[in-house]
Order: sequence, then structure tokens, then C-alpha cells
Amino acid sequence: MTGHQSLSLADAANLSGAPVDVTAVLDHLIREAEAAAATSIGFPGAVDLDYGEVMTRLGNRLWNNIGDPADLGGVAHTRVLEQAVIAWFADTLAMPRDDRWGYVTTGGTEGNLSALHTAHHRHPTARIYYSTAAHYSIPKIVRMLGARGVVVNADAGGEMDYAHLAAQVGRRRRWPAILVATAGTTLTEAVDDTTSIRTVLDEYQVNGHLHVDAALSGIPLALDGRLRLNDDSGISSIAISGHKFLGVPTPSGVVLIRDHARNTASRITYTATLDTTITGSRCGLAAALLWHAIATHGHEGHRWRATQARRLATYTVNQLNAAGWPAWRHPHAVTVVMPTPPEQVRKKWLLATDGATSHLVCMPGITHGQIDAFVADLTAAAPPRLIPRPRADGLSTPSRTL
Ligand SMILES: *Cc1c(COP(=O)(O)O)cnc(C)c1O
Repeated sequence: MTGHQSLSLADAANLSGAPVDVTAVLDHLIREAEAAAATSIGFPGAVDLDYGEVMTRLGNRLWNNIGDPADLGGVAHTRVLEQAVIAWFADTLAMPRDDRWGYVTTGGTEGNLSALHTAHHRHPTARIYYSTAAHYSIPKIVRMLGARGVVVNADAGGEMDYAHLAAQVGRRRRWPAILVATAGTTLTEAVDDTTSIRTVLDEYQVNGHLHVDAALSGIPLALDGRLRLNDDSGISSIAISGHKFLGVPTPSGVVLIRDHARNTASRITYTATLDTTITGSRCGLAAALLWHAIATHGHEGHRWRATQARRLATYTVNQLNAAGWPAWRHPHAVTVVMPTPPEQVRKKWLLATDGATSHLVCMPGITHGQIDAFVADLTAAAPPRLIPRPRADGLSTPSRTL
């Protein structure tokens, strides 16, 4: 026991007052993170993989992959690992070998920005279509690019409304279209159907770029063979997070773009490398961590992780339904959607809540024990007769699930 335990973390960490006890502050941070982990079931980050070997051996040096990972000039410390990671993702997504490009990003947002920036550069007059269930980074990026965004309705389960898309595209058919499909929406893990989207674009003979924001579900769906960036798919680019399904202990991700859908970039001279990435200096440690996750588990290991997570999600829905809670999930999903529990339950269990609807995410590493404890707390706090009925008009009513 030290005196610092009575001090708030903010007071202990304050750098403009008395000398700080660095060890005490780090202890405090770790204690808080460990205490929160047991009841943290709302964030889509896997917690089952051990990255200790990489962190211990590489974590105390600078690994900076400046510039384009496919370029052989300049400084690039873990570039070889990054290239291997990009090749694995591209293979898993069935991208043609002679028509692929990508790099390790800081996360889903940078991947979306890189892909949409590329698309917008090629199609400067294009309208950017995205659904109301798209991630908040998409409208932000549309504003950053100075582009025109068009919002498309989502159905009650969170999937894009293709009839509404057709109406929106039909009205703007003289401009190219940049389409953002989501594979795993934030609230319900809905997956937009890129075949239906392509059908709409073909019907109106609108050209452009189809991007998939697959930050959450990209890897499981690719491993299922249900998400491909081959010629038939008509998909030009994809963004995937590294700290979600793979649980990489630093924000990270991957962006992949079909090479034919890219611009030629300017060569910058002082590092002698192609300036094709959003940031200049890039985190080589993230590339090494992603590489480690793939090298140690491979295709089959990660498929098994996805299967186990979906099983736990099925179990969770069953336990909640048995306790009188109308919870549901999409068939491919690890996200379980339910009416928002009472406040005392949400104080303890860190769910994600949007008004009357909440979700928990059965990411790899979440246990049956945690689910059982959550359901027990829920049952103790809210007898079934007090459970809110799902609304008829909102996301709490699934469209085609259960
Ligand atoms: C998490 C997420 C993002 C953003 O990813 P960051 O890594 O936080 O930038 C974007 N889109 C979707 C669908 C996500 O789930």
C-alpha cells in the first residue's frame, strides 16, 4: 500500500506540480485497466492473444516504416514484415496478385481516409454514399475531403436500404459514385451486401469506386470466404482494424486498394520513398504485432477463434432470451443487441449504448463466466415484466434475424 492510492490518477500524473512517482502512476494505470477488463464486454477488441514476445523484444526501440511499403528506398525497419502482412490479407481476400496495394495504418479511420482520398482524387465530382449506420469516421472524412456526401437509410437491423440507395443514385446519375459499404456496423454488426450495391450502380450505369469499411468484421468474413476483393466482387478497397479481431495492443489497421483504382503519387526526395501513405512516419511496431498474430495462429487458428466467438454470441443470446430479454444477433455476428439494461447494470458492465438499444460484443477472450455473471446481474436488477419492449421503428427491432 502506498499513499498514492488515495490520490486520483490525474493528481498523481500532474506534471506541473510536485515531483511525480512514475512507478506509482504506471501501477495505478495497470490496476485500473485490470479492474475494468472483467466487466468490459462492449468494446470490440479481442483479449485472447499474447503479444508479450514482440512487446518485450521490440517495444523499446523505434521501428518506423516511412513511406510506401512496396517501395524499396528510404527508411523502413519492419517493412519486410509489413509486406508479409499485406500479402496475407490480400491473399485471404482473394485480391489478384498483380492488382493489389496496401499498408499498415493507425486504424480503421486512416484506412477509410486513405481509400476514400484515393477514390476522390480519381473521381473529383463523385458523390460519396454511405448509410446512416456507417461509422462516424465516414461523414468526417467526406467533410475533410470537401466532397459531397449522400446519406442512405439503413433498415431496422442496420443494413443499407438498397431501394433507398437506388433512389438516391438515380437522382444523381450524372456524377460518379463512391460507395461506402460497411462490413460490421458499429451498433449491430450488420453487413451491407456489395452485390446489391453493384446492381444499383450497374442499373444506373454510374461508375466510381466501391469501398468496404470492414474494420470490425473484415477478417472473420474473409476467412469464411464471404468477403473477397476479386474481379467479380467489384470492390476497389477495404479498411480493416488491427486492434479489434486481432486484439493488437496498439491502435492499428490495414488498408488494401486494387492497384488499378489508385493514383500515381509524387515522389518525395528527402527519404527517397514514394509518398503514398496518409502519415509519413508509420508505426513499424504495429506491423510486427500484426505479423506475429498471423505467424503464430495462421488461417486455421483465426478461423477457430472466429467460430468460438460466434458460439459464445449464440450462447449469450440464448441465455438472455431464457432470462426474458429479447436479445438478438445477425447470423455471422459476435455482437449481441438488446434493450438497454437498467443503469445499475450499466455502471458495472461496460456495454455500448445508443438510447434504447445496447450491445455487447463476444470478442475472442470473453468467457462464458463473464456472460453468466452479466446475465445474473441483469436478472437480479430487472425482473422480466419490467424489461422494455423493443420499439417498432428503431434498431431494437431486428429485421431478419433469430
Ligand atoms: C472501429 C471502426 C472504425 C474506426 O476504426 P479506428 O481504428 O477506431 O479508427 C471504422 N469503422 C468501423 C465499422 C469500425 O467498427
